[in-house]
Amino acid sequence: MSVLEYKCPHCGGALVFDSGTQKMLCPFCDSSFDVEALRQHDENLKSLEQENINWDDLEESDWKRGELEDMILFSCSSCGGEIMGDKSTVAKSCPYCGNTAIMTKQVSGVLRPDCIIPFKLDKNAAKKALTGFYNGKPLLPGAFRSQNSIDSITGIYVPFWLFDCDAHAAIQYKATRVHMWSDSKYNYVKTDHYELFREGDISFERVPVDGSAKMDDSYMDAIEPFDYSAAVDFQTAFLSGFVADKYDVDCEQSKPRANDRIKASTEDAFSETVAGYSTCIPQKASISIEDGKIRYALLPVWMLNTKYNGKTYTFAMNGQTGRFIGALPIHWGKFWLYLTGISALLSTLGILVINLMF
Ligand SMILES: [Zn+2]
Ligand SMILES: [Zn+2]
Repeated sequence: MSVLEYKCPHCGGALVFDSGTQKMLCPFCDSSFDVEALRQHDENLKSLEQENINWDDLEESDWKRGELEDMILFSCSSCGGEIMGDKSTVAKSCPYCGNTAIMTKQVSGVLRPDCIIPFKLDKNAAKKALTGFYNGKPLLPGAFRSQNSIDSITGIYVPFWLFDCDAHAAIQYKATRVHMWSDSKYNYVKTDHYELFREGDISFERVPVDGSAKMDDSYMDAIEPFDYSAAVDFQTAFLSGFVADKYDVDCEQSKPRANDRIKASTEDAFSETVAGYSTCIPQKASISIEDGKIRYALLPVWMLNTKYNGKTYTFAMNGQTGRFIGALPIHWGKFWLYLTGISALLSTLGILVINLMF
């Protein structure tokens, strides 16, 4: 029989065929292997070498006649934020930093969005959500709550790149199963070592990557998810009464983040198939992305700004689901009272415990 030269999966030494046991032996570390298992191992290693990431170019949809001409670009001279709106839009202040020095320009050199999730919740819903957000916040300064003047409230479409693809992945794991037992004299520990291999296909739809550097990522993460099934083809009519952020992270720059998200999700999905071991550690992973399509989408977000003691506080609400996020000022006097209250309570408890003990 012809035996290929195999290397020991444990130590890398050259294996020799042992006719007595019909197995491959490693003269260096004393391991023995089935020929079939080694052939499989070699094939697995080959799969782990293959990695191909192919994203199609963005399918640019052309602006229709008059669409671009009917829009204006507002740029903030303070933070550099750029938003677009239709000609009827009046932008008094920047939704990102609250600054009122806004310049207007003609829109040019921007891609036309492929799809849009229209606003489902209106301005009043956003105001209500802000009041709801104040409730149950004991450390909020009273004046902040009572003045409660919303400086600006803007319905803004935030640009996102959506990635669709079929992924083929291969992951190798090293796993152990540990058994322990004892007799009258000794404790025993037996550790079995396994090399596991998983290979398969997984499809991804609409993996979102934020196309706006101005929009705080932690805010966006907090108000996700969006229901993408409500996305429709873009029409400029959806912009009326709202503004759209001009993307400043293009789809090329977003690809590494999409790849990372797809890789992480694939590893999570595969790790569910390797249950039942004491330890299981991924060694090597390869992922190929086929048929990758990228779309440019606009997602609805309400941005609210309030000023308090010369500082601007920004809040954001998912315009589709109502999820709300923001930072609030803290009344430090109340904070210390609150802390003292807690410690007073603790010391009372302490006295009680001491009383009970003696
Ligand atoms: Zn060896
Ligand atoms: Zn600004």
